Amino acid sequence: MCGIVAYVGSREAAPLIVKGLKRLEYRGYDSSGIAVITDQALKVFKKKGKVKDLEVVLANQNNLGNIGIGHTRWATHGEPNDVNAHPHMSNSGRLAIIHNGIIENYASLKQMLLNKGYEFKSQTDTEVLVNFIEEIQKTKNCELPDAVRLALKDVVGAYAIVVLDKENPGQLVAARKGSPLVIGVGHEEYFFASDATPIIEYTKEVVYLDDLEIAIVNQDGLTIKNLQNEEQDPEIQTVELELEAIEKGGFDHFMLKEIFEQPKSIADCLRGRVNPDEAIIQLGGLRSHIGKLAKAKRIVFVACGTSWHAGLVGEYLFEELARINVEVEYASEFRYRNPIIKEGDFVIAISQSGETADTLAALEMAKSKGAVILGVCNVVGSSISRITEAGVYTHAGPEIGVASTKAFTAQVTVLTMMAIATAHAKGTLSDETYRQLLIEMAAIPEKVEKILEKSEEIKDISKLFTFASNFIFLGRGLNFPVALEGALKLKEISYIHAEGYPAAEMKHGPIALIDEDMPVVFIAIKDSSYEKVVSNIQEVKARKGRVIAIVSEGDRDVKSMVDFAIEVPKTHEVLQPLLTVIPLQLLSYYIAVLRGRNVDQPRNLAKSVTVE
Ligand code: GLU
Repeated sequence: MCGIVAYVGSREAAPLIVKGLKRLEYRGYDSSGIAVITDQALKVFKKKGKVKDLEVVLANQNNLGNIGIGHTRWATHGEPNDVNAHPHMSNSGRLAIIHNGIIENYASLKQMLLNKGYEFKSQTDTEVLVNFIEEIQKTKNCELPDAVRLALKDVVGAYAIVVLDKENPGQLVAARKGSPLVIGVGHEEYFFASDATPIIEYTKEVVYLDDLEIAIVNQDGLTIKNLQNEEQDPEIQTVELELEAIEKGGFDHFMLKEIFEQPKSIADCLRGRVNPDEAIIQLGGLRSHIGKLAKAKRIVFVACGTSWHAGLVGEYLFEELARINVEVEYASEFRYRNPIIKEGDFVIAISQSGETADTLAALEMAKSKGAVILGVCNVVGSSISRITEAGVYTHAGPEIGVASTKAFTAQVTVLTMMAIATAHAKGTLSDETYRQLLIEMAAIPEKVEKILEKSEEIKDISKLFTFASNFIFLGRGLNFPVALEGALKLKEISYIHAEGYPAAEMKHGPIALIDEDMPVVFIAIKDSSYEKVVSNIQEVKARKGRVIAIVSEGDRDVKSMVDFAIEVPKTHEVLQPLLTVIPLQLLSYYIAVLRGRNVDQPRNLAKSVTVE
């Protein structure tokens, strides 16, 4: 995690870097800092807390020069405090570094450096790395790019780093392995950042640094080398991100903006792909793979967090529609087992950022065992999209709120399109159902809009539950993953303990928790398990549980038995999750806001989990 920004050019570096760090704050926000070279001095300013706390520290500083590096941290090694905040300086005070990732062999490197007399102020792995680079620079008497390159040959772990050298005040040296790094190429100016959002206001021309590459920016421009010192050709790409997409646009929080963007983000995801008039689904990125998927023996979805819930929806869809055996794996578990992968298996990664460390590693492992690897990602050009054979972008636009909302519905939209296209190619879906599904899919954005119109009603319900200390979410079939997602959302942003269960499973344990203080959210849609869910509601009511139910439009029966009912429009059963999750997102949002939580940046979390 963590966000890094660096700049060299003719602009004032510090304000530009601080603004960039605010854009990247979703990646980590326990401390932040910058290092600049001004009047031949290397100066570091850092502070525990948010970037706005760093701004207070910088308030009385005048122009701090035209080169600098900045970091917003998500601590892995050492608690969040001023000392552990980045940038970290080398012992001589010559180098400063920012780092995203984990240096796994930091302990042995640290011991070696301690034996040579180095001292450490922080508990971070990062301070070890900057001193290791300094040690090589000294002993090999080499320039910084060579010292970084040689150091990284001995480093185990993941990193995106940028290093500043006081003796070379026009130069930035950066490198990556496993953590993202984008280079913005302007007119005689260069930017480095964890994603393109701090850069796009100055230039749309970017280079995505590859793993095990080093970028050097100085008076000669940009040079990229691999760890063997061979020069690489930088591929300059144009990013199509607009500034408005990364600003709040009048909403109180990014999360609320993103919830309300869903009619558009789902429509964007469907655009050019689903055409009900001509009965066509076209997934450009999978054109040559749908036929192969139709013959797949097994599909394994690998994902983490909310994306894992999208994978569970995908499991139901592919099994139901395409009759393919599906497994859904937590990427972090999958990669450390010895999973059985056979020829004909497809491993599909689902990741909003496309950088999730565990998911990336799981894919690499699956590839080495001979699986066909595909990706479903939101961020264009991300690592997962680059290592996969093929895939589908979710086109949800930048998601900045740490709790995922529109990225989830876009993932489910993509998985639904993939399942329908595969089932149609395989012949397990009748032409009639196929057509019907396409018509229903095209109508989803409008139906989401209708649910969003109920936000005030949902806010009023939320007011009554702000003091709850536990919540249970129950659903069956395709709405079981939605129940898990509802519980996760609430946990993440309100810090209320919440559990999601298959509704029928309640009897095997959680029912013991039910009393008048336990709110239970049921997804009780008129689908094939409706009657069973209604019985489960009765079981909860009989034990005085307080029930909020998500029901189909016009359902009076459930309404009459629960405390609160929120209606959602009807659609085809397999498309229900795209609608039923929306009221749960709003419920979590309002409960969290009413409890005074920072919904966009919940404690301990970060968005793009680039550490294991
Ligand atoms: N491992 C480093 C630290 O704990 C960097 C963590 C990050 O990516 O923010 O400071």
